Amino acid sequence: EYITGGYMPINIGDILKEQYKVCRKLGWGHFSTVWLCRNLSNEGPTYVALKICKSAQSFAVVAQDEIKLLRETKLIDPTHIGYKHIVQMVDTFKLVSVNGVHTAISMEIMGPSLLHLLIQSDFRGIHLSGCKRIITQVLKGLSYLHEKCRIIHTDIKPENILIKVDENYIKTIISKTEKFTELGIDMPRSYVASDCWIDKDKRLGDSDENIISKFEEQRGQSYPYDKFLGELTDFKRRHGEPRLNAPMWVSPNIEIKIADLGNSCWEDHHFSAEIQTRQYRALEVILGAGYGFPADIWSVGCMGFEMVTGEMLFSPKGEESKITNRDHLCLIYETLGGIPQYITEKGTNARQYFSNGELLRVNKKWLRIWKIEDVLVEKYKWKRVDAIPFAGFLESLIEPDPALRLTASMALQSEWITMNE
Ligand code: ADP
Ligand code: MG
Repeated sequence: EYITGGYMPINIGDILKEQYKVCRKLGWGHFSTVWLCRNLSNEGPTYVALKICKSAQSFAVVAQDEIKLLRETKLIDPTHIGYKHIVQMVDTFKLVSVNGVHTAISMEIMGPSLLHLLIQSDFRGIHLSGCKRIITQVLKGLSYLHEKCRIIHTDIKPENILIKVDENYIKTIISKTEKFTELGIDMPRSYVASDCWIDKDKRLGDSDENIISKFEEQRGQSYPYDKFLGELTDFKRRHGEPRLNAPMWVSPNIEIKIADLGNSCWEDHHFSAEIQTRQYRALEVILGAGYGFPADIWSVGCMGFEMVTGEMLFSPKGEESKITNRDHLCLIYETLGGIPQYITEKGTNARQYFSNGELLRVNKKWLRIWKIEDVLVEKYKWKRVDAIPFAGFLESLIEPDPALRLTASMALQSEWITMNE
């Protein structure tokens, strides 16, 4: 994709805008590549993450929106408790390459994402106390985005939550890069820094693609999945082997920030009707019933389950979106123990999937109610006293009615967040 309208070709050692020296690739996404750069000027932080967007007009428009959103989050209220949990923009400018004009955004530098943390845990998940620290910070960040900035993130998921790192981490990745140069080896473009952090034996390779394929593979293992039987839902997938491994411990000092406002929008100005990554997509979005801040809270609920168990709460399957949606609705139904009829009647897609409150084309006999509390006890072998408060907390985040779902501030006041262990 290093073509006209695509990514900007960058080499390690390049100096951009006569100010930023490229040290290492940090990551990439659909819209951009992101580079660790040393800031050669005396102003601003020594190291930054430089996001360089693809050059086609459509990407440039998206980048301008992201800049507007980032600017707003930077300016509105630095004293808010959630302010420091949103990745900050430093500077923005344009770069010209053979592929066109690219928007560049320099941001404060962050480390690996929560997805890396899950990989590092071998998908055993992380300890509940660490999870609480992480979820609390995500909720603080969202309380700032929602209540102060009136911004809906729309893509809350482990990949987009980044872990804060210190200069030692940055120095380590730079010295590794120098080793490559010393040995005369070209650093492959796909070799991203955050992967270094994962133990060698735990990663399959060096690129994000490998991480993702490992992720898919693990998911397949944990939910033994019989071939998709037509449009039937298959409850067996959620009855895999019990998981007895201890979860991974994380440092009490862990600090995270919400990143990637590339898909975000304003409460009163949406860019798209369909939002969110499938597994973290809220019920009202699936039903086409409109969305707002509560859609982000749903994603936090899904992510909370995943962080402690290492497995996704909902991973619907299907060849086309209608089938996947139906599967997704079945999973939600099973987890919540039903969906209130008035919810099933709202939304432009609702009538495709529900009639009189019942799931269409789904035999009720195939559905097996399996509430989160019981999943934690039966599958993950939790003690019931531990499962009850956590399951209760998650259920208040995946409440089917967005109007009744906890807001970020309410969730921060909830019993599970505030209680001592
Ligand atoms: P896109 O909009 O193209 O998806 P993202 O903003 O999600 O771009 O960035 C792509 C990847 O770059 C992220 O998944 C992450 O690995 C890395 N990254 C992004 N921002 C930072 C940052 N501030 N510090 C360190 N790494 C970052
Ligand atoms: Mg992204």
